[in-house]
Amino acid sequence: MNLNRRDFLKLSGAGLAGAVALSAMPDTQALAAKKFPLPQRASETQTICCYCSVGCGAIVTAWGENGKAGIKIEGDPDHPINEGSLCPKGQAMYQIHSVEGIVDKPINDQRVTKPLYRAPGESEWVEKTWDEILDMIARRVKDTRDARLVTTDTDGRVVNRNEGMGSFGGGELDNEECYLLAKMSRALGVVYLEHCARL
Ligand code: SF4
Repeated sequence: MNLNRRDFLKLSGAGLAGAVALSAMPDTQALAAKKFPLPQRASETQTICCYCSVGCGAIVTAWGENGKAGIKIEGDPDHPINEGSLCPKGQAMYQIHSVEGIVDKPINDQRVTKPLYRAPGESEWVEKTWDEILDMIARRVKDTRDARLVTTDTDGRVVNRNEGMGSFGGGELDNEECYLLAKMSRALGVVYLEHCARL
């Protein structure tokens, strides 16, 4: 490339102007750090929404000891299913990390962390242990099945149909939990078996 003196001066001037412009540009990372100072070092982890079988991708930004306390959960823009969006239920995922003991200061102090029981006719809820509640549920399931099991239909065919119970799964159940719930329901003779994702 042949340069005369005039071309050389022009190019040098342009290069110098570019360098001055670049050095005058703000360091956006430094500005962001000043504006939003993080209390501790943050880490990002990709995960899947736990609420339904659509399987939207999310990013958890975490801080704290061993990165256990989540501070933010948002849709993953690189995920092929949701491309960054989350439905209202998925957006409520942040409440999961607000259980007492997981973070220093729970943001969801309304979350129920122990079994509560309200006896028939009573207006107050009382705390129970899991052992008490599980025994109570097991007793009622057994009594209901024994009382409402229809073993044969009107033509005498064996049906073993439990007409006193139904099972309604929720969106927070994963595949394995749905499988176990369906197996248990069928074993109890339940025929009214549904899941909110099918309705
Ligand atoms: S609950 Fe909503 S955000 Fe979560 S996987 Fe289903 S559609 Fe996606």
